[in-house]
Amino acid sequence: MFDNLTDRLGGVFDKLRGRGALKEEDVRSAMREVRIALLEADVALPVVRDFINSVTEKAVGQSVLKSVAPGQQVVKIVNDALTEMLGSEASDLDLAVAPPAVIMMVGLQGSGKTTSTAKIAKLLKEKHGKKVMMASLDVQRPAAQEQLKVLGEQVNVATLPIVAGQMPVDIARRALQSAKLQSFDVVMLDTAGRLHVDQQLMDEMKAVANEATPKEILLVVDSLTGQDAVNVAQNFSEQVPLTGVVLTRMDGDARGGAALSMRAVTGRPIKFVGMGEKMDAIEPFHPGRVAGRILGMGDVVSLVEKAAATVEREDADKLAAKMSKGQFDMNDLRTQLRQMTKMGGLGALAGMMPGMKKAKAAMSASGVDDKVLVHMDAIIGSMTPKEREKPALLNAKRKIRIAKGSGTTVQDVNRVLKMHQEMEGAMKKIRKMGGLKGLAAMFGG
Ligand code: GDP
Repeated sequence: MFDNLTDRLGGVFDKLRGRGALKEEDVRSAMREVRIALLEADVALPVVRDFINSVTEKAVGQSVLKSVAPGQQVVKIVNDALTEMLGSEASDLDLAVAPPAVIMMVGLQGSGKTTSTAKIAKLLKEKHGKKVMMASLDVQRPAAQEQLKVLGEQVNVATLPIVAGQMPVDIARRALQSAKLQSFDVVMLDTAGRLHVDQQLMDEMKAVANEATPKEILLVVDSLTGQDAVNVAQNFSEQVPLTGVVLTRMDGDARGGAALSMRAVTGRPIKFVGMGEKMDAIEPFHPGRVAGRILGMGDVVSLVEKAAATVEREDADKLAAKMSKGQFDMNDLRTQLRQMTKMGGLGALAGMMPGMKKAKAAMSASGVDDKVLVHMDAIIGSMTPKEREKPALLNAKRKIRIAKGSGTTVQDVNRVLKMHQEMEGAMKKIRKMGGLKGLAAMFGG
């Protein structure tokens, strides 16, 4: 999604990284490049301008901290500004009213409105235990109401029975009455779209909003439409009191500008992103994490969360105990490799771990892939328990034996040894910095 932008920004920061002290001119020329990178990613011009001004002001005025490299300091400032641009905090749906809480979905035809309605209904039902009803107010597009009914059956969420010929405001009224009678917690109104923003559409939205007094009005926009998405969002936000945005097709190869401009243009947070056609392909939007990913600094938060969910308690405890003593042997490396495999292999880790993106690119360029994890495991498996505890024992003869035993080469064995050394070094560093908290601090988390 943000790959190009990430690469461009990475290049800018690489240049800064080598500097001992940052001069104003360094910052200004870096910001010129950041500006171009953002514009190329399709971020709206006024948004880029504000962003660059705010970052330059902070970066130039900043006294250089002794403990971090100046380039790193700029990365942190850009990271904070990006997070702010994306909306600072993850914002949940506000459903705290006497039930039923009404969520109104608005947007152009084909933006993914009906799909997102069903996805969110499923989420509210399964993750939040809400009793949800959906109703389609789309009398424009033939079969729109039928489509929602089919999706409702698919995700096991009730839909308001279709009454032919009824108008949107009347359907909304009927949905509310019916939801009250059957004590539903949430009513989702899927409104009609149009091909373009027009006054008739806006009037209809306003009339429905008046009737249903929704707690949330979510605008659904297609991220693939770039600048157009931003214009549509601006139009809607001027006429309908939006509470948030759902950005669909973030699984596609849009340049990301729509996501970055949305908050500034609508003044409303992105609440969800659509990541595919399947009914569970929707995610709450976390500005801080997305900013981290854009900068390629790694999403330490989700890495740790993911690790915590997959890592077996016992292994983790053992490793932690050893690490606290500064020990890290081949057995530990093996545990780590197995966890990497469980967490989805190198591909899943790339983009989450600092530096992994580049490492992954370098590895796939030289033909290394997830099979490597399996080979490494086999190599460690061919070591004796003593060798595993004390890798220093591995002389040339032993290496040849291990290579034979695992069906690999001595070079492969050396690679495992090198990886072990590097990880041992990293573990020691992390320990010195005060464990994972230190690790997070290192990446500005
Ligand atoms: P509506 O006219 O706004 O109600 O749009 P629909 O909900 O009917 O969606 C139009 C098409 O976009 C459908 O084929 C959906 O499966 C697809 N779609 C919706 N959201 C996403 C998404 O996040 N990713 C992808 N790849 N497709 C999506």
